[in-house]
Amino acid sequence: MGFYLGIDFGTSGARAIVIDAKRQIQAERQLEFTESSDWSQCWQTTLFQLIEQIPVSLRRELSAIALNGTSSTVLLCDRSGNPITPPLLYNDARGRDTLEEIRAVAPPQQITLSATSSLAKLRWWYHHLQPADTPLYFLHQADWLAFQLHGKIGISDYHNALKLGYDVENLCYPDWLEPLTAPFKLPQVLAPGTPIGEILPPMRDRFHFPPDCLVCAGTTDSIAAFLASGATSPGEAVTSLGSTLVIKLLSHTRIDEAASGIYSHRLGNLWLVGGASNTGGAVLRHFFSDVELAELSQQINPEQPSLLDYYPLLQPGDRFPINDPNLLPRLEPHPDNPVDFLQGLLEGIARIEALGYQRLQALGATPLTRVYTAGGGTKNLTWMRMRDRYLNVPVIPSPQTEAAYGSALLSYGNFS
Ligand code: ADP
Repeated sequence: MGFYLGIDFGTSGARAIVIDAKRQIQAERQLEFTESSDWSQCWQTTLFQLIEQIPVSLRRELSAIALNGTSSTVLLCDRSGNPITPPLLYNDARGRDTLEEIRAVAPPQQITLSATSSLAKLRWWYHHLQPADTPLYFLHQADWLAFQLHGKIGISDYHNALKLGYDVENLCYPDWLEPLTAPFKLPQVLAPGTPIGEILPPMRDRFHFPPDCLVCAGTTDSIAAFLASGATSPGEAVTSLGSTLVIKLLSHTRIDEAASGIYSHRLGNLWLVGGASNTGGAVLRHFFSDVELAELSQQINPEQPSLLDYYPLLQPGDRFPINDPNLLPRLEPHPDNPVDFLQGLLEGIARIEALGYQRLQALGATPLTRVYTAGGGTKNLTWMRMRDRYLNVPVIPSPQTEAAYGSALLSYGNFS
């Protein structure tokens, strides 16, 4: 029986999950990044150490590998894959000054029109690096890490390439992009999960992989987490109840509305339509500890709604589902009883979630049928029942939430 390896490079560490052909987890390993002044070196070391921690009996029967990285974490390399400058990380906004030149040629609503987009980072390098006399390859973190294993320089996937400006509808780089990206070599873009090639012989020998073990095109961390959830049919969605509220709905139709932060990733013949609100667990944590959240929530009767009408935010402004940079938090009146206050907060966030799905459907997304849930809020059963009522569809904890599990499924070939 073959095994499938998914590797997730997140913001603070990396995780590897091996599944079998029945999608059961056979091994799971995790490593935190060490404080690093050389990120690419740190990622490479972490990758190799993680693989070494997987039992060799599983490695010997590995059929395929896929990796995900953080979206818009990018590198510039020579043709041998050696980084020629430190990577720019997902949240690096130094490209903000390049947005005017992108806006001058890109269509309106283009997702690259953000200070942290891969394209803004590429433009920043264009202005700040000395011209090189060798071709320079622009890669995403996941592309570069997979390159360590398959050895073919310049290959990406259409999830990572979206924020570089790749046209995921027509599966090509659009004409407007070319003048912005020269002289850098952009990666060839494949469907996530597509086999790129067999494992490099030195890697095969070092880690005891079989010679026909395939390295596949990867994805981004948030899409890998969606894939992990088990949502596969149009109308199924995943809400991430972490520090912020993020929703993603699998849809027949594509929706892009940059002003509201709504954009679509391609998923085979479907679209993954998403938006993110500034509300979420960070507001709860501002008022309550996790222990208080658990204890007080048990005292709430979810069937008996409060009359409070909160829009929980820590500071003014939201993009989705209400696009208003000056939107004021609504947290009054503040009842004396903390149970009542918490009920108001949980209901407020649940209403924003429901409004989010209504907004996506109003813009043409496939009607919602079921919501899987990931993130710290999932363990709150009272909240799950409340959300059931606002959303009017079953609300289910995701059976798997780790991005590494989603990447393992990708290498298994379910989503290409
Ligand atoms: P992230 O990775 O986005 O920082 P997590 O998925 O780890 O977030 O979730 C952390 C959030 O979960 C915190 O903001 C906290 O308020 C919230 N949380 C923790 N326990 C509960 C609970 N019992 N009910 C609701 N929210 C909770």
